[in-house]
Amino acid sequence: MAATVSSSILVMNAHNPHIQRLKQSGCRLTNARLTVLSVLEAEHGHITSADVLDKVARVNPAIGRASVFRTLDLFTQLGIVRPTYIDTSSTPTYVLMDGGHHHHVICSDCNRVFEFDDCGLESLTSNLEATLNVQINGHLLEFYGRCGDCLALASADTGATST
Ligand SMILES: [Zn+2]
Ligand SMILES: [Zn+2]
Ligand SMILES: [Zn+2]
Repeated sequence: MAATVSSSILVMNAHNPHIQRLKQSGCRLTNARLTVLSVLEAEHGHITSADVLDKVARVNPAIGRASVFRTLDLFTQLGIVRPTYIDTSSTPTYVLMDGGHHHHVICSDCNRVFEFDDCGLESLTSNLEATLNVQINGHLLEFYGRCGDCLALASADTGATST
């Protein structure tokens, strides 16, 4: 298992957008950074910091806790990942921001997460940049609601009971 992740570091090339982002920001491609990135990519994001620690330790036990946390902070700062707080747990789940954005619809009853790609937020982004005088590098969008299954359950419930 560990071998799979280590060898995927070698496969990562200069065209990897996250590696380009690191280089553009003048960050050295340290072993810790590449290992954390390969762990995140193997999971397609959606991984808690505890799991990142665990997996990094299996690949390379020499990389310490502190440097994993520093790397996650750096990646967050650069917009490579964002911490999210799905499941109301207190530890964040890190999500890889492919293309600078990431989108969820979350069922507030069963916590099922739907992913979608097209957000159509280009004009809102440029409006915000103009009105707030900021440069926007990405966004994480989360809609909350009820999934089809939970809606069906809810309507079955209201059919069966009078409450
Ligand atoms: Zn649901
Ligand atoms: Zn996601
Ligand atoms: Zn988007």
